[in-house]
Amino acid sequence: MKIKFWGVRGSIASPGPATVKYGGNTTCIEVRSDAGELIILDAGTGIFPLSQSLFSEFPLTSNIFNTHTHWDHIQGLPFFIPFFVPGNTVKIHGAADPVSQKGISEILTTQLQYRFFPIREAELKADIEYFSLKEEEKIIIGDAVVTPVMMNHPVINFGYRVECNGKSVFFTGDHEPLRNIYTVDEPEEYAEYQAIMAEKNKSIMDVINGVDVLIADTSYTPDEYMQKIGWGHGTFDTSIQMAKEAKAKTLYCTHHEPTRSDNALEAVFAEALARNPRHDGDPEYFLAQEGLEIEL
Ligand SMILES: [Zn+2]
Ligand SMILES: [Zn+2]
Repeated sequence: MKIKFWGVRGSIASPGPATVKYGGNTTCIEVRSDAGELIILDAGTGIFPLSQSLFSEFPLTSNIFNTHTHWDHIQGLPFFIPFFVPGNTVKIHGAADPVSQKGISEILTTQLQYRFFPIREAELKADIEYFSLKEEEKIIIGDAVVTPVMMNHPVINFGYRVECNGKSVFFTGDHEPLRNIYTVDEPEEYAEYQAIMAEKNKSIMDVINGVDVLIADTSYTPDEYMQKIGWGHGTFDTSIQMAKEAKAKTLYCTHHEPTRSDNALEAVFAEALARNPRHDGDPEYFLAQEGLEIEL
């Protein structure tokens, strides 16, 4: 299995000299199974350069798995070049939205409204198929298996485990570790919520367990997080903790803050490693970087 980062930025694309090393595109990860099946995790702006690398494989079947429909995870989708070439197949997988009652099949209809984009969905040349996913229902893509699990974010967000021939990667999408909304001053409610959290955490950790590569939402430092509780994102420390608990072999921190320069990103990462020194058997920790490839 091969993994390549095409976008590692959260919230909004942030190109420029200060972000040239880690990259300014928003979330997009290419996963290739051993047999060459193409699985794309999220369609942030990074999917545009990814799609430019695919011409030689046309006609091509692509499987896009959307963690959730916030802009930074879908903004590049209308520019996914395989849509415009006959013979290609694009399969789009994701959660239905319980608020609007709309399935993942509405995603392009919504994005390609004529006043926002000059090409209508009906004018796309590829065959497009939609799959609204259910939690923990496995999807088989050739020699790979994808398992979605619900994470914690203001909208439904699926984390995905991709497995192929005994190797595995898990991507959280956007995720904030669960917090008890009650205080110990309300002991009954507090205890009840603790139990709900324990059950939810177990269902997440069961899917992440033992993964070779964990790619996790690591937007904030612990200090920044105090101003952003409930925004739906994790910290360096919570991602490191998750990687340790899951017995992941490696952790790649991603969803970098758009305002964070390369130097600032390396500085806060170094501080996080100093707070969380590695011991024998702990995962190895890295910053996700645009263009970085991992071979498993
Ligand atoms: Zn995001
Ligand atoms: Zn989000």
